[in-house]
Amino acid sequence: MIDFHCHLDLYPDPKAIVNRPELASMYVLAVTTTPAAWEGNQELVRHQKRVRVAFGLHPELVGQRAQEIDHFIELLPHARYVGEVGLDGSPQLRWSFHKQDEVFRRILQACRAEGGRVLSIHSRRATEEVLNAISEEKSAGTPILHWFSGTAKQLERAIGMGCWFSVGPRMLASDAGRRLAAAMPPDRVLTETDGPFASQQGISLVPWDVRYAEEALQQIWQTRQIAVKERLLGNLRSLLGKDA
Ligand code: MN
Repeated sequence: MIDFHCHLDLYPDPKAIVNRPELASMYVLAVTTTPAAWEGNQELVRHQKRVRVAFGLHPELVGQRAQEIDHFIELLPHARYVGEVGLDGSPQLRWSFHKQDEVFRRILQACRAEGGRVLSIHSRRATEEVLNAISEEKSAGTPILHWFSGTAKQLERAIGMGCWFSVGPRMLASDAGRRLAAAMPPDRVLTETDGPFASQQGISLVPWDVRYAEEALQQIWQTRQIAVKERLLGNLRSLLGKDA
C-alpha cells in the first residue's frame, strides 16, 4: 500500500507508528511542515526502506515563518521530494496569502533550478492560485495535488497541466470527493491519509488506513481489489521512474 502524504512526525508517538509491522511493507512519503523538521524525520525513518521524507514549508505556517524560505532553498539540493508546500486561502489565513504566494513561487523556481522535484501540494480554497503558480513554472517537476477540493472545471485544468493527485479516505468519504476522483486519470492517482491531521470518527488516520481509500477506488474504478493495488503500484513506479 502507498501513503503518499502523511505527517509521520506529528503523531503523539512517531516511533511507534514507524515501528508497526504494517508499515514495513508500505511505501510512505513523510511530508514535513518546516525545513527544520527535515533532519529529525530522516533519522526517524532511517531503518525503513520504503519511506521517503519530503522537504516542506507548510502554507499555514508561512505567515509566521516566511524567513525560513532561505534555509529551504539552501537545503533543497539534498531533497528529492518536496512537500508539504502550496497555498491555503482559508479566511483565517487570508492575512498571509500574499506572503504564501511569494514563498510558493520561490519554492517552484528553486525546484526548477534544481532540475525538477516531485511535489506534494496543498491547495485548500486556493486551487486557482495554485494552478496559476504551477503553470508559470512548468519545469518545477511533477506536481501532486493532495486532497484536491476544487471544482470539476479546475480539475480539468489541473489534468491538462499534467498534475497528479493523491486521494485519501476522508476525501473519498464525500460524494463531491468521489466525483472528483472518478474524473481523475486513473494512471495519475496515488493514495494518501494526511494523518494525523485527517481523522475518521475522531481518531487520527494512520498510514495503513489507506486501505479505505483503496476500497473507495475499487468502487470508483469498478475493478477488482488486486487490480487497484497493481495500478497504484504501477503509478508510483511510473512517477518515480520519471523523476528518480
Ligand atoms: Mn498534510
